[in-house]
Amino acid sequence: MAVREIRHRLPEAFLAQLDEAYSPLTVEKVLLGMSGRRDTTLRVNTLRATVQDVAKQLQKQGIKFQRVPWYRDALDLKNANERAIQKLPLYSEGGVYLQSLSSMLPPLFLAPRPGERVLDVAAAPGSKTTQMAAMMENRGSLVANEPDAIRRERLAYNLNVQGVTIAQVLAGPGERLGAQMPESFDRVLLDAPCSGEGRFLANRPITYRGWSEKAVHQCAKLQKKLLQSACEALKPGGFLVYSTCTLNEEENEEVLAWGLQTLPLKLMPPPVEVPGALPGRTGGRPASLQYSVRILPSQTMEGFFAALLQKKGKPNAS
Ligand code: SAM
Repeated sequence: MAVREIRHRLPEAFLAQLDEAYSPLTVEKVLLGMSGRRDTTLRVNTLRATVQDVAKQLQKQGIKFQRVPWYRDALDLKNANERAIQKLPLYSEGGVYLQSLSSMLPPLFLAPRPGERVLDVAAAPGSKTTQMAAMMENRGSLVANEPDAIRRERLAYNLNVQGVTIAQVLAGPGERLGAQMPESFDRVLLDAPCSGEGRFLANRPITYRGWSEKAVHQCAKLQKKLLQSACEALKPGGFLVYSTCTLNEEENEEVLAWGLQTLPLKLMPPPVEVPGALPGRTGGRPASLQYSVRILPSQTMEGFFAALLQKKGKPNAS
């Protein structure tokens, strides 16, 4: 799809924000990244399979793939769509999880370890909860919260198929978790509900139909409450990842800047280097915002934003 056609389809106010934030060349790249084609990517679920097993089975089916330099469990498929993968026993038995590469970043930033206590504030459908359980080798405990009943059902199903045994599913609003479980977790993931600009595809109106400037403001308001709650739930010295699948500064850098000014949090350098990733925008905000990471949409990656934070204060002896 040509850039002109893509522009014609996407919301005008969204395009105006993009034009203001980026150079014409970058805007063109971003729009081409929303043109409709994106590689199918998957994560090998190391609770059920090894990368070697999966590679062999894909090869048997004539499916070509590339390894991803920054993550040994990720595969970028070259000639298969999601439906082709869903037909394989490998999929129904939970040996793989269809997941965008960008979505694999927050757990890598958070780096949960076996035996730790971890909270996932907004968990469904469970891409990152299942990834964290695999990283924790099913040892420790994972609290996976999701207020939406239908999405929570999907989360429970995915946890089961993927063989996750350490997760407890909660059903409340994330805003309350901090007060309910103060200073209880070694690591907290806040993969926040957002306006989803990084997932826009020009040929799929459902990806951008609900977007509006008002929706962006509402998301930012909720994100701040969730960040405060996530921070309260975290032990002093513990780690928190804030991530969204949007490009919007109001939901990304501005929410973080608010958090750095209001909450006992500091930003940490990104622990994973992703080729092509851009630093967060500082522009009059705390300089450490450069440690946050922006991914612009492309053929291989959805647009994304992620930041690693640490809670100030001495870890309690336990
Ligand atoms: N982390 C998930 C994954 O990787 O599979 C994706 C999470 S999605 C970006 C955001 C989720 O936040 C949605 O499932 C949505 O229902 C949930 N949500 C909406 N409002 C919420 C709230 N107040 N507290 C917690 N979660 C909320």
